[in-house]
Amino acid sequence: MCALANGARTEGCVYWRAMADPYETLDVPRDADAKTIKASYRKLALRYHPDRNPGDAASEERFKQINEAYAVLSDEERRERYDRYGDAAAATAGFSGDIFDIFTSVFGGGVAGRRGAGPTRGVPGEDLEAELEVTLAQARAGETLTMDVERMTACDHCKGNRAEPGGKGRARCETCSGIGQVRAQAQSFFGTVVTTQTCPSCRGLGERIIEPCTVCRGAGRRPEAGTVEVQLPRGIDGGYRLRIPQAGNAGIDGGPPGDLYVYIQMASDPDLERDGDDVRCELRIGFAQAALGCHFEVPTLDGPEVVEVRPGTQSGSEIRLSGKGMPRLRQVGTGDQIVAVVVETPKRLSGKARQLLSAYAEEVDESIEERETLVDRVRGLFGRRKGHDEREDTPVA
Ligand SMILES: [Zn+2]
Ligand SMILES: [Zn+2]
Repeated sequence: MCALANGARTEGCVYWRAMADPYETLDVPRDADAKTIKASYRKLALRYHPDRNPGDAASEERFKQINEAYAVLSDEERRERYDRYGDAAAATAGFSGDIFDIFTSVFGGGVAGRRGAGPTRGVPGEDLEAELEVTLAQARAGETLTMDVERMTACDHCKGNRAEPGGKGRARCETCSGIGQVRAQAQSFFGTVVTTQTCPSCRGLGERIIEPCTVCRGAGRRPEAGTVEVQLPRGIDGGYRLRIPQAGNAGIDGGPPGDLYVYIQMASDPDLERDGDDVRCELRIGFAQAALGCHFEVPTLDGPEVVEVRPGTQSGSEIRLSGKGMPRLRQVGTGDQIVAVVVETPKRLSGKARQLLSAYAEEVDESIEERETLVDRVRGLFGRRKGHDEREDTPVA
């Protein structure tokens, strides 16, 4: 006699094992023979095997159910008990083995029965997130950076298994009989509704610590500041997320650790601005330099480099330094550096500069002294440009 979650009482069991109808699970009729059951089991077990569906919790759960169902229906005595009493009696009687043992017994050693990826017991650690600021040089080189991370690590004293070393150890959880799930029954308008949930007493672990670890008080882990190595892929840019496997919180009771997700942010650079695979910089020059041409030193990712400003360069034009940008992320090739030229108009002029500039204006027919009306100016500009074009278009005899 024992209590159900909703307070109802029933004979013969502690909370019922969470179990679906094994005939339904294996998709076989009630009178199916052993051969049919086995054939269906083989088909379904292969389809939902965790190795074929890595990281898919639903498949894993389904795989468990398939194996449990087969454990009942492949055993004559258990099947008969199930048929007579329903799932509770059959499923709790004698089935305590590893589900992968069932799989291996059917498929033999040839097919990997046990999943290779880490332990299946325990509570997995949580994933963590962190931001990492990266300089252009670091992203370009694909450096390995060390970042500080605060995370939960396994308690040194109990090695993460929550029990005091040398203590009384652990006992099967009485609430769920070590199964980790409980089944609750409730009356509703539609009749009896049965739900299953993770055992509240043991959080699904199926075990109870008799003497909790005196250091972590049975938590199994504690927050600790540490470092993580982050290997940047060459060309990584802001907004990307990197996954560092197993660098998240430690698991409990042998559960696997979570992962660390690192969100990349580009640090601002005093000289160069990133634009995808390209980097940009601005070059401010005087208008005489733009007109006459000159050479300038600009910063690049490889250090200062001399670029040529060709005579007659317009403000707003761009000089492209091919291959001087960032490596393309996970691709071949490299972006460019783009030097944006800004021609600056002088704000203050010496007497002599004013004189020379006036002479220049006179030479190129830019009116300075006259007060032009706006209409005159537009007309003048239009006329000049037209005249200029005509001159250019006229073939020289
Ligand atoms: Zn429990
Ligand atoms: Zn501990």
